[in-house]
Amino acid sequence: MSARNPVAPLEAGDVEHFDHGTDVLIVGYGCAGAAAALEATAAGAEVVILEKASGGGGSSALSGGEMYLGGGTEIQRACGFEDTAQDMEAFLLAALGPDADKEKVGLYSRASVDHHRWLVDHGVPFKPSLWSSPTWVPPTDDGLMWMGENSYPFAELAKPAPRGHRVTSDGFGGKVLMQKLTEAVAATDAAVHTDTYATRLIVEGGRVVGVVARQYGKTYAYRARRGVVLTTGGFADNAEMVAQHAPQLVGLGVNSDGGDDGRGIVMAQAVGAAVKHMSAGQVGISLIPGMMVRGMIVNSVGQRFINEDVYPGLVGQAALYRHGLKVWVILDEQAYEEVPVDERWGVQPHFVAETLEDLEQQIGMPPGALVTTVGEYNRHAAEGEDPYFHKSATWLRPLQSPFAAIDVQRGIAPPEYGEAGRGGAEVFTIGGLCTTVDGHVLDLDGDPIPGLYGAGRATSGLHSWGYISGTSLGDGTFFGRRAGVAAAGAD
Ligand SMILES: Cc1cc2nc3c(=O)[nH]c(=O)nc-3n(C[C@H](O)[C@H](O)[C@H](O)COP(=O)(O)OP(=O)(O)OC[C@H]3O[C@@H](n4cnc5c(N)ncnc54)[C@H](O)[C@@H]3O)c2cc1C
Repeated sequence: MSARNPVAPLEAGDVEHFDHGTDVLIVGYGCAGAAAALEATAAGAEVVILEKASGGGGSSALSGGEMYLGGGTEIQRACGFEDTAQDMEAFLLAALGPDADKEKVGLYSRASVDHHRWLVDHGVPFKPSLWSSPTWVPPTDDGLMWMGENSYPFAELAKPAPRGHRVTSDGFGGKVLMQKLTEAVAATDAAVHTDTYATRLIVEGGRVVGVVARQYGKTYAYRARRGVVLTTGGFADNAEMVAQHAPQLVGLGVNSDGGDDGRGIVMAQAVGAAVKHMSAGQVGISLIPGMMVRGMIVNSVGQRFINEDVYPGLVGQAALYRHGLKVWVILDEQAYEEVPVDERWGVQPHFVAETLEDLEQQIGMPPGALVTTVGEYNRHAAEGEDPYFHKSATWLRPLQSPFAAIDVQRGIAPPEYGEAGRGGAEVFTIGGLCTTVDGHVLDLDGDPIPGLYGAGRATSGLHSWGYISGTSLGDGTFFGRRAGVAAAGAD
């Protein structure tokens, strides 16, 4: 950080005067900040939210609106699915691992039915209807979808149930989620200071007691009598931090509102906060899941490397971290035609050929690469089997001429935004501040830093390495609520 924009904490004794005072000061008004504000005000605390943009929303408002919820929610039951917290927990531990946060995942799974109810009580709509085929976001307003729970190896580890709860919306649901949460916050006494960028924490006797922030060129000091809650999002937009911590994400598109600058994380690090899983990223790979699952995904030498029916973010991680995103979706005409037009996002094959020999030559793969892979795949698919990667028989069919290939590195454009992703993927960071299940930010000794709380993508939440859609809005709102309660209750 440059000296003109220092991040080191300021001693309270050096503050000439505090311009504002409140019980709980929340920095960042996305889903985690809104949830923290709602619970802190409900607990009787005076709350001020600082937001650097001109209004609440953050990346949460741009998101698909998928929330990972289960254990037998009203929506699951209305769609005819039984589910348990134990099965949800077992799935998440496997899918978000290795070394997903056991305590957070366990608590989140056990409280998921209640959390769904809390969201509904705060106006967030979910429709009780299932969208059953693989996609990023359903093109309909269906409220429930599979997130790979019924794929190998997860279906063997936990009884599968669809747990992707999508906020009812035309298109991406994040805007509705944030509209409802900000409306709920507006109905409380919480004050929102927009265009206000928090730059550093204020400390007193080892306790965080406030924040320095800038608004329209002026600097203000905020005192927080009970606690400061950092809900500032991740660091995917900070090129320097990405290069330092997550170099494999450098040069890729960023899935954010453009403001994930990591400031909240470094402000907390400057008072001794520990971080973890900083190299992990969600990899929104540039492909249409419905095309991939009906065909296959291969690396630059034409080899499959994963069952194509897992959550596509897990395919993205495997493709990026193991194959540098040099991957192609191989399919045939029938597979392409079977994907409804509104799910294709305008994606068309980059290479088409009557023979696999011609296709592999066009792509530049070694001779015989695709002939071998597709030949083996077809031989087993004819028997309804995938002994190499265990893709469900639902998606197995021998591929036939004419064949096609889609070059993932060329990017795709969701109709909601209309701009093709760069480099074959759009990413955001998953790692961040170490926190307890109550949102206390921990120092390098594992002790809570008095007065400092965090939630959402500024923190390391449920995940370690893996990622399933819905776990960001899910853990952001859930642990945001808990951080709000804890900060409000602090002396
Ligand atoms: C296109 C897209 C689709 C997505 N789809 C999904 C999905 O379907 N399901 C899912 O779970 N996740 C999804 N995600 C990821 C998810 O949206 C984010 O991880 C999540 O919203 C993070 O929530 P948050 O509250 O931590 O941060 P944000 O919502 O980003 O909020 C952080 C806020 O803090 C503010 N801020 C930052 N620093 C400061 C500062 N120093 N001072 C003052 N204010 C500050 C920012 O301006 C911002 O408003 C998607 C993301 C994108 C971009």
